[in-house]
Amino acid sequence: MTGDYEIIIIGGGPAGLTAALYVAMSRRRALLLEKALLGGQIVNADRIENFPGFPSGVGGMELAELMQKQAGRFGLESSYTEVTGLAAEDAGYLVIAEDARISARTVIVAGGSEHQKLNVPGEAEFVGKGVSYCATCDANFFRDRTVAMVGGGNAAVTEALYLTRFASRVYLVHRRGELRATRVLQERAFAEPKIVPVLDTVVEQVRGDSAVRELLLHNVRTGTDSPLKVDGVFVAIGFRPNTGYLRGFLDLDPQGQVMTGARLDTNRPGVFAAGDIRSNSGRQAVIAAGDGAAAALFAEEYLRGA
Ligand SMILES: Cc1cc2nc3c(=O)[nH]c(=O)nc-3n(C[C@H](O)[C@H](O)[C@H](O)COP(=O)(O)OP(=O)(O)OC[C@H]3O[C@@H](n4cnc5c(N)ncnc54)[C@H](O)[C@@H]3O)c2cc1C
Repeated sequence: MTGDYEIIIIGGGPAGLTAALYVAMSRRRALLLEKALLGGQIVNADRIENFPGFPSGVGGMELAELMQKQAGRFGLESSYTEVTGLAAEDAGYLVIAEDARISARTVIVAGGSEHQKLNVPGEAEFVGKGVSYCATCDANFFRDRTVAMVGGGNAAVTEALYLTRFASRVYLVHRRGELRATRVLQERAFAEPKIVPVLDTVVEQVRGDSAVRELLLHNVRTGTDSPLKVDGVFVAIGFRPNTGYLRGFLDLDPQGQVMTGARLDTNRPGVFAAGDIRSNSGRQAVIAAGDGAAAALFAEEYLRGA
């Protein structure tokens, strides 16, 4: 991680790793910065059934390793560090990371997003002890147990249905009187005897000892509080883009996602955005990968002055 780079990619999920593959193949001096695990969110996916080229599906971790290996074959340079700031400088941009300040002519932001938290007492304390943000990853731990799924959109209802394969009962806790999920999904959920809708209700607290034992619920219509005995709680209430450090530097939409043009360009010439981090992304691995490839090609054109 020395000297100046032509392209810096921030984030090593499907978008960042695919961008890295393309820039490595074009022999650009490029660096990929990742704060956690190369692979991004797909490492949490038990199985990915809709990534082209894998007719029998592929494990999320396996796909991440394959992407990493492929980019590595062409000499990908990467470093584990969190980017905390981005600033303009004469010849391009200064990428400010935890432990370094690196110059780059172009930047591809591909930091994806993270699960929205409930932000209630007990939630953080019980992560991994009954609080989960990934049904496909953790459902297996709740065989014949009682769980709650918090959320009312497509993700929450899909995951609640998935949980019924393992859990004996799934409370579907949603803050409104109606779910937001598509009608088809709602019909499936309401026809499933293991799913018990708990509407107009928010979680106030997660309680337990060595593991989750109950939720304190608040009914927003009646104003009453009541405990609900559960062994686990899954949360699917949306995503928060990893754009905190970009605020004020790049144009973001009201959800905090990066606004991009048709060439995945941002309001800063030479800064591109790819994958889940950008506004109106499809939130799919293959879309993120496609974005990564496109952003790399547009960055390449920018460097050539085309
Ligand atoms: C449980 C689960 C199951 C899924 N199943 C499927 C599926 O079956 N099919 C499908 O198509 N999609 C699936 N998805 C969605 C898919 O994983 C995402 O759409 C895809 O990973 C988005 O890719 P990305 O590269 O844009 O972002 P991410 O995968 O979120 O990767 C972003 C990376 O950037 C890093 N990063 C963020 N900020 C910084 C920073 N400041 N500095 C350095 N690094 C940073 C993060 O650590 C992360 O590794 C699933 C997601 C989850 C959570």
